[in-house]
Amino acid sequence: MKRRGLCPKCEGSVIYVPRVAESHDGRPEPMRLVALAHDPSASVGDLEAGVCRECGYVELYVKNPEAIPLDGETAWLLARDTPYR
Ligand SMILES: [Zn+2]
Repeated sequence: MKRRGLCPKCEGSVIYVPRVAESHDGRPEPMRLVALAHDPSASVGDLEAGVCRECGYVELYVKNPEAIPLDGETAWLLARDTPYR
């Protein structure tokens, strides 16, 4: 959706890319994907969305996926030939 600039559901071509936020004590804070295993008070993986203006379809993206550590606790790689369980 973000790369092609087209909605996969309706082929609409007006796509918004807003940051995704949640409210903490009435203040917006960026919504993040994961808490770090070695520091649960810290988190990485700011979310942003692709929103189709035509039909409202939404896809979520991690803004900087390379910042998520593949340490085996915070996140781990899924082996290609092993089905996820
Ligand atoms: Zn659409």
